[in-house]
Amino acid sequence: MQKGHDEVWSNCLQIIKDNLGNEFLYKTWFEPIRPLKLESNVLTIQVPSQYFCEFLEEHYVNLLKKTIRREIGKSAMLQYSIVLDSQSHYASIQPSEDKYATANYPVNVPLNINSTPTKDFPNPFILPGLKKIKINSQLNEALSFDNFVEGDCNRLARSAGYAVAQNPGKTSFNPFFIYSGVGLGKTHLAHAIGLETKKNFPDKIVLYVSAEQFVHQYTDSCKNNTRNDFLQFYQMIDLLIVDDIQFFAKKTGTQDVFFHIFNTLHSSGKQIIITSDKTPAELFDFEQRVISRLKWGLSADLQSPDTNTKIKILKSKLYKDGIEMSDDIIEYLAFNINTSIRELEGALISLLAQSSFNKKTITIELASEMIDKFIRSNVREVSIEYIQKVVFDYFNIPIVNIQSLTRKREIVQARQLAMYFSKKHTKNSLAIIGSKCGNKDHATVLHACKAVKNLYNTDKKYKIWVDDLEKRIAN
Ligand code: ADP
Ligand code: MG
Repeated sequence: MQKGHDEVWSNCLQIIKDNLGNEFLYKTWFEPIRPLKLESNVLTIQVPSQYFCEFLEEHYVNLLKKTIRREIGKSAMLQYSIVLDSQSHYASIQPSEDKYATANYPVNVPLNINSTPTKDFPNPFILPGLKKIKINSQLNEALSFDNFVEGDCNRLARSAGYAVAQNPGKTSFNPFFIYSGVGLGKTHLAHAIGLETKKNFPDKIVLYVSAEQFVHQYTDSCKNNTRNDFLQFYQMIDLLIVDDIQFFAKKTGTQDVFFHIFNTLHSSGKQIIITSDKTPAELFDFEQRVISRLKWGLSADLQSPDTNTKIKILKSKLYKDGIEMSDDIIEYLAFNINTSIRELEGALISLLAQSSFNKKTITIELASEMIDKFIRSNVREVSIEYIQKVVFDYFNIPIVNIQSLTRKREIVQARQLAMYFSKKHTKNSLAIIGSKCGNKDHATVLHACKAVKNLYNTDKKYKIWVDDLEKRIAN
């Protein structure tokens, strides 16, 4: 007597599990499958979505084929039944008229289907090929390699990035980790690699996502019980770009899920690109296993541009906008703006705006006035209250604790930091700072400043905190 579909499938699962040797992949891709029927050697299995089906097709068709033939015999066939789900508000696939189907994640509009119809899919073993999936890559066309000026400051990162785009997932630069201070071109370079990859391999699925967006999507998926959809979506990406990964700090849930996605993608030869404002080694508040993965490939930094590169960047922006400007003004800007490329661009835009609003020709004097204003307006006068808020927010401590008498270490520490930065960034006396920071006297403030400097020089993690806070307060 022929075995029933349940028994056959449960035997198959056992074989698949042994073969995969990876609990996580098994849980993600095989546990959600339900056997529906077995008729004349055709086993029908129900899969949760079309891209789930396509993923199985792409990655596991041979495993499925072997397993099912072993259980049912040589003439065994497999048929998928796809659930057109209405519960989840993530529309996995929307069949469209061109040869593509589209998958967008997340799609905010719920699908208005009330029943849960299933759609039979023909035998995949003889299917000539499935529809390709197209997603919104979130890439900005303006941030291409063509617009990314090369200089000593970015040569290594740029050429490594370019190499990755010629051969995504196949170089040893996987993951490719780009780090630098703000405004030096991380996001631009990451987009450029994504765009170039799409140009070279139009069928590859490329996704740019900011770490912040990733965190939100993940938290939403936990709330809405769609964690599996989230995982499936990310596991079908061929080139995944996660921008500003330092944002994952202290978020262990996100780090865990990212770790799994990373492993799946990496082990199937998919490319991962990460940007960060710190090196992997400086990413404290990260799980060690995540950090160790980030160190697997190549890390490259973007440095502050030298004057020549700044000049080239300015010229390329002007050229693109069809604007002429004399060389001495361009040089003047390049010499005088040393903070970042973003500021350099900002200054150029302000200068152009100034001249067109006021119908003034651009002269060195105008440029110098503007730089004065531009730079001055960026230096805000900070108050003790502002500093306290930044520091306490940074450590997630409610601000009321600044006045509390507790000796709790984290509160004492935050208060000391608030005192230190108040001394450094305001013109207030030690006595005033003390009185505003928990009613302390001037000696306590002095002691706090010394303690901070001491720890800064001896404790690496503490140094990172202070540097982070410095950026937040001074910017
Ligand atoms: P980050 O992500 O490191 O903070 P961005 O990539 O946002 O920096 O770069 C800041 C600005 O500087 C963007 O407008 C970007 O286009 C521009 N930029 C950075 N590097 C270059 C470069 N090499 N050539 C041209 N423009 C650049
Ligand atoms: Mg950026």
